Amino acid sequence: MPLLNALDTLIEALKRLPGVGQKSAQRMAYHLLQHDRTAMPRLADALTAASEGIRHCERCHTFSEAPICGVCADTERDGRLLCVVETPADQAALERTGSYRGYYFVLLGRLSPLDGVSTREIGAAELLVRASEAGVGEVILATSFTAEGEATAHVLAEALRVRGIKSTRLARGVPVGSELEYVDLGTIAHALTDRR
Ligand SMILES: [Zn+2]
Repeated sequence: MPLLNALDTLIEALKRLPGVGQKSAQRMAYHLLQHDRTAMPRLADALTAASEGIRHCERCHTFSEAPICGVCADTERDGRLLCVVETPADQAALERTGSYRGYYFVLLGRLSPLDGVSTREIGAAELLVRASEAGVGEVILATSFTAEGEATAHVLAEALRVRGIKSTRLARGVPVGSELEYVDLGTIAHALTDRR
């Protein structure tokens, strides 16, 4: 493989971001070099700090700089509710609605056998342990309304049921095929209230 020069290396690195193709990556690289040089070391520093400082909460698996995240550490929340989401972004979307006061468990993915994502990768065993803790009365399955998100909710609901743990699913109203993080807050809040 030929060695890349600095510009090509930058473009290749930017292309790793979701939704960024060759053209956008080139535009970003040229923009930085031509118009915003000072942003470059700041961007580099922020990436290094995030990469080194952000880990996963030991309890819910969301992003956290501390071993236990702020939500899990908040004793004022409703310990009877445990909401299962696919990503930290989905968790943030639910938090923004302001209508949920329970705790979370973040799968960091969804079941996708073709991509090699099994129950192990999404931490299903850890979820079952967490859901079995005293005081948890309901597990709200807030995975996305995509085929894989639905399959994930189904598998988890069954695993919870055989352990005698009640689970509910976000109500329909969230458009089919949607990722929670892109759904408007009112719709999420309703889907949460009308869960069944
Ligand atoms: Zn946490």
